[in-house]
Amino acid sequence: MTLPPEPQVGPHPTVITDPADLRAALRGHAVAFVPTMGALHEGHATLIRAARAAVPGGRVVVSVFVNPMQFGPNEDLSRYPRDLDGDRRVAGEAGADLLFHPDVPTMYPDGFSTSVSVSGVSEPLDGAARPGHFTGVATVVLKLLNLVRPDVALFGEKDWQQLAVVRRMVRDLNLPVDVRGVPTVREDSGLALSSRNAYLSADQRAQAAVLSRALRAVQAAYAGGERRGAALRQAGLDVLTTAADLSLDYLSVVGGDMHEREIMDNDPMNRVLVAARMFGVRLIDNMPLAAHVAAGQSTVSQSTVSQSTVSPA
Ligand code: AMP
Repeated sequence: MTLPPEPQVGPHPTVITDPADLRAALRGHAVAFVPTMGALHEGHATLIRAARAAVPGGRVVVSVFVNPMQFGPNEDLSRYPRDLDGDRRVAGEAGADLLFHPDVPTMYPDGFSTSVSVSGVSEPLDGAARPGHFTGVATVVLKLLNLVRPDVALFGEKDWQQLAVVRRMVRDLNLPVDVRGVPTVREDSGLALSSRNAYLSADQRAQAAVLSRALRAVQAAYAGGERRGAALRQAGLDVLTTAADLSLDYLSVVGGDMHEREIMDNDPMNRVLVAARMFGVRLIDNMPLAAHVAAGQSTVSQSTVSQSTVSPA
């Protein structure tokens, strides 16, 4: 008889590739889950620490799976950064017990023919810019939730629309999991941490901070009393025109349903989102319109873990 791997807490979480081993290791434990595509950074670590705090005596599982289904044909699937040793170290130091690292045939066996598509919140913004992306996300997240069966799953507000899609799917399909959003972790410059920042030089990263400055300009306009959607948007666009080598996908001011409004009310769900290609790399970011909603936002130097008080959809 083979015994299931014994989970370890500490710098080297056990790497599990087989779903049956995962089930055996988790049986009888409270579980908090952080799905990722790896190349872990301080943003992921913040989610993992929040997961650790959510199930003090339980198991924290981090999945590392670069999901082919959520990449378009001309996107960066083949060059997406991969670093399993680094991921083990970051995940372990943040308190993960297990790293689930399935291969593509395990997740998508021959003949795989099911997908989950969430309408509404997944249609505008990244849904329009990346056709099929959120179907890939929803499908893999549902599969991972079924494999891990967590009590709590943590997602970053960095991917605000993704968080909305996951929440809608979990609600619509009655999935027994508590989905929690975690505020975006940023460099001191304001640049949101992202695995894709690894494609950029230090100088390019400094220039990419223009995205967060544009979002803050929208917040400032909103704080100054501006409520017209188009005028709020323009405050952000004015900042982006100062940037070199930027090609904008969208800058949108939206409500909790991800759709633009002519007049924004005072709903804490109101958000400004941006997606742009800079130096050949597609970057996304977002902030609440009301800056105080972001009170929990942390930077790498502060690195405080706090859970968001608002959640999309
Ligand atoms: P990814 O590996 O990019 O798919 O991200 C895995 C999870 O980490 C997602 O829930 C992301 O929203 C979250 N995440 C990525 N970057 C950050 C960040 N800078 N701050 C907070 N969460 C993040």
